Amino acid sequence: MKTLKFAVLPGDGIGPEVMEVTLEILEKVLSDNAYAIDTTEAAVGGSAIDQFGVALPENTVRICEDSDAILFGSVGGPKWESLPPAEQPERASLLPIRKHFKLFANIRPGLLYRELLAASPLKNERIPEGIDMVCIRELTGGIYFGQKSRRVLDDGDIEALDTMIYKKSEIERIAEVAAQTALARNKQVCSVCKANVLTTSVLWREVVTEFFANNYPEIELSHMYVDNAAMQLARDPNQFDVLLTENMFGDILSDEMGVICGSLGMLCSASLGLETNSLGNPFGLFEPAGGTAPDIAGMGIANPCAQILSGAMMLRFSFGLSDIASKIENSVKETVQSGIRTGDIAFGLDAVNTRTMADAILSRL
Ligand code: NAD
Repeated sequence: MKTLKFAVLPGDGIGPEVMEVTLEILEKVLSDNAYAIDTTEAAVGGSAIDQFGVALPENTVRICEDSDAILFGSVGGPKWESLPPAEQPERASLLPIRKHFKLFANIRPGLLYRELLAASPLKNERIPEGIDMVCIRELTGGIYFGQKSRRVLDDGDIEALDTMIYKKSEIERIAEVAAQTALARNKQVCSVCKANVLTTSVLWREVVTEFFANNYPEIELSHMYVDNAAMQLARDPNQFDVLLTENMFGDILSDEMGVICGSLGMLCSASLGLETNSLGNPFGLFEPAGGTAPDIAGMGIANPCAQILSGAMMLRFSFGLSDIASKIENSVKETVQSGIRTGDIAFGLDAVNTRTMADAILSRL
């Protein structure tokens, strides 16, 4: 029996609630397929601040380093909001983890089932079949990581500066992630940049064009300026299949994509690292797109689907178990389609709690 080794960082708020049922589902589906799991739980976020005085204890980093992937819940909440910004749970744990493990590729599926159209703020006639796309965002380069400065000028005015930098190699490696994603879907990539204004975008466009022409001629590549992409997402999201973009544009567009896809309780994500794990697959961190939902934390009513689907992404990317990942994804879809829903996606149906939702998913596996 093969053993899958991953770190479990439940975090705060609804994090531990949805993590608990996710682990049960992973354990069941993996043991049915002759795999065992070896997990080590570690403190992160506000609960780590309470226990150890820091949001990301060294021991947590060590546990992650000794694992083949990280399954992350979510961190933060009102209890820690009065801390200085640099010590707040999200900033002091998630960002350092991304940096430490060089998680350069953020993969966010934008999936809205037809049965959940009511969750989308878009007019339903624009998306009669729901939404199915993926946003691939570069996560460790660009303006968020370039040199920054601020100074008072001689005339007393104040000037602040952020620098947007991209290297050819950084663009190529994220293009490769987009290509692999597109090959598993409809072989279409739309690269989003601002090449009419930004030098980094001119390089981005050149490199992406050459990369796909040389390596993946079978993939249909198109380009779009970011301002147009923001409009097109709201107008007709299904024109996109795989959307590839740099860090800041991806930050904004992936949130726009998230909101048109409805409930945060359904949206998962993966952040893949530069390095491979002990199995030769990408090391990654897998987490729901939403936060700790303080308004419903502790009530046992959170939607576990985003966390469960993040677990499925982990199996696909870090453990190469696409078949099992698809089984979990189908089971979530069938459960939601059958009308078993938590409150955030109930829309007039009787809402079930986290446990009942998870049991229904489990029973369909
Ligand atoms: P949030 O995503 O926690 O909640 C927004 C709304 O969505 C709430 O009404 C919540 O109940 C609902 N929601 C989110 N996930 C849900 C689920 N699984 N099931 C049912 N409903 C769900 O966003 P927020 O309120 O802006 O942030 C709360 C805290 O979470 C803050 O401290 C914030 O910093 C933190 N946060 C953490 C992460 C992360 O860990 N990656 C991401 C976003 C926000």
